[in-house]
Amino acid sequence: MASSPTGTPSAAELVNVIALDGPAGTGKSSVSRSTAQALGWRFVDTGATYRAATLAVLRAGVDPEDADAVIREVRGAKVGLVTDPQAPTVLLDDEDVSQEIRSAEVTAAVSAVSGVPAVRALLVELQRAAAGRQGAVVEGRDIATVVAPYAVLKVYLDARPEVRARRRAGELASLGPVAGENSLTAVEAALNKRDKRDGQTNKLRASDSAVHFDTSDLTLDQVVAAVVGLARGRGVLPAPSAP
Ligand code: C5P
Repeated sequence: MASSPTGTPSAAELVNVIALDGPAGTGKSSVSRSTAQALGWRFVDTGATYRAATLAVLRAGVDPEDADAVIREVRGAKVGLVTDPQAPTVLLDDEDVSQEIRSAEVTAAVSAVSGVPAVRALLVELQRAAAGRQGAVVEGRDIATVVAPYAVLKVYLDARPEVRARRRAGELASLGPVAGENSLTAVEAALNKRDKRDGQTNKLRASDSAVHFDTSDLTLDQVVAAVVGLARGRGVLPAPSAP
């Protein structure tokens, strides 16, 4: 578990982390980005790493259900994250794929790819390196339980199913035609399918020590204020560069 001071931090070294877990459509990404901005911390979108790996698999013409071929492809792919919360960017082999990883094709295949344990092991390392030691808001599904179990603050966001589907449809509409079918029923069906498939590999597990929020009836600003308030209560100070 040990690592050199300059290498990838071990799980135990990832203390300056706010772990934000929860399913899609709970406001997780927006809350994480805004919290990172408020604190002057990095923003690490772990879902984006699984999406970039999935894009590599699809581009190579590999069947996402073929675990061995998926592992080979993901090992050979170079996934990168720019963690500035003002302009987060996802790179695949040095190409900016931030938009493309949100496509319906990637979304439909990502649960199969993220269900492969060797893929998870590779990407967890990358996520820890991206988070670093100086402070990061890391969003995902297994952050508090696997990626950074010693995080100073663990938050679990949830929302009612119809609210999640509505928010997700709004997100997709804002991405334009690349995102595919945006009708509320189609979005709800896709979300349910992904939840079920993600659930089979038990990725989304709330940590016992996480603070839970149901964001259904809260604004983004309210949730961010609550998370930043909790972080300050635990001694987190904004970085000198924070707004
Ligand atoms: O958060 P987002 O919807 O972009 O995540 C895409 C997919 O990546 C999830 O459906 C899940 O399969 C996978 N994921 C994961 N573990 C994480 C984050 C995302 O398995 N920490």
